[in-house]
Amino acid sequence: MRSNLRTESRKQPSEENPSCNAGRTVRVLRAYKTELDPTCHQVEQLLQHAGCARYAYNWGLRKKIEAYKATGKSPSAIDLHRELNALKTKPQEEGGVPWMHESSKCAPQEALRNLDAAYKSFFRRCKAGAKKKGFPRFKSRKNGIGSFRLTGSIRASEAHVRLPVLGELRLKERGYLPVENVKVLSATVSEQAGRWFVSLQVEQEVSDPEPKPHHVVGVDVGIKRLAVTSDGKNFDNPKALGKAQRTLRIRQKAVSRKQKGSANRRKAVARVAKVHRRVTNIRKDAIHKMTTSIAKSASVIVVEDLNVSGMLKNHCLARALSDASLSEIHRQIAYKAKWYGAELRKADRFYPSSKRCSACGNVKATLGLDERIYHCEACGLVIDRDLNAAINLKMWPTVASASACCPGSSGHARKSVTKLLVGQEPSREDEVYD
Ligand SMILES: [Zn+2]
Repeated sequence: MRSNLRTESRKQPSEENPSCNAGRTVRVLRAYKTELDPTCHQVEQLLQHAGCARYAYNWGLRKKIEAYKATGKSPSAIDLHRELNALKTKPQEEGGVPWMHESSKCAPQEALRNLDAAYKSFFRRCKAGAKKKGFPRFKSRKNGIGSFRLTGSIRASEAHVRLPVLGELRLKERGYLPVENVKVLSATVSEQAGRWFVSLQVEQEVSDPEPKPHHVVGVDVGIKRLAVTSDGKNFDNPKALGKAQRTLRIRQKAVSRKQKGSANRRKAVARVAKVHRRVTNIRKDAIHKMTTSIAKSASVIVVEDLNVSGMLKNHCLARALSDASLSEIHRQIAYKAKWYGAELRKADRFYPSSKRCSACGNVKATLGLDERIYHCEACGLVIDRDLNAAINLKMWPTVASASACCPGSSGHARKSVTKLLVGQEPSREDEVYD
């Protein structure tokens, strides 16, 4: 697996001259994830660390629940860590955890911090009145080995990463982790279907992206294809899950035929996990290539603001939509736009990008999901449905204000336009549609 870069929070070193971007460097937070190549002995150590983290999390959760029932308050991560440290010196017969000494102290400590974070999110959701409160759950070995996070002295080199207690671990890919001009904040080690990964969170100095020639690109993210851009680029959906369904069914059947709790069943489960891993990797790869290509080529990207969770409620669409990982695509476009110096605009959800004719502006009253080709009754345009939508997105928001007075536009569109005109700054004369 290559990059999986997530966090992007910019810290401006100086606010002196905000208008001048050229040659300025900023410190950013980035995460680099890559596969480890551990020895047998190291795998044992990794399992031990993950076990410590899981134990500490479950132990802390139990403590918190007990304390809350007794006193109405729950202890903080620091209190719990102190208590856990005391347990390390006790023998196992008296409920101590002397075996934790073999692992880095960070693993349980960070697990308790995660627990605190899980509690905070739970209270936040309660306050917001969310339907699913998501109270922290106990971690089980059966649901996977999980992960652990280490802090302290972490160093990356060309082909290795050095972690506290674990020492030097070989990497499968050379030269991927950043070596110079970085400050490593933490390392998270995780396991997936028999492979081990390390994700380094680093603070890195990067220079601002070079200014690009003005080029607006509308992107229609869809099901049949991952995305279509207004300049006519097609990004096909690998539909990895659909293609793997057959293999998956065969292997899942094999699992159900094995005796529960047997070694053969465990092996069969691992075979299922491998198919899932392959599906995930294929999808990730295609999405990363697509989002990078778009973010690099455009100076302004216009996407549709999708109500993904609302769409997932529609059962016919649900699997295909999650297959295309719509929200992941939007997330990637957003952070890569920042990286490569492009501006991201989100067209209003009610902007009729599919129903509108990109040549004459006529808005159709209805457009079936199966109509792959757009036929315009007003001007006779025949165009691919997704390409038409992408071109319409490119014209947003200039066109949204024009279609407001058009008698053909629907009530929805008119409403959204009024909203738009209130919220939008007026001078976007760069995109005229003709
Ligand atoms: Zn037309």
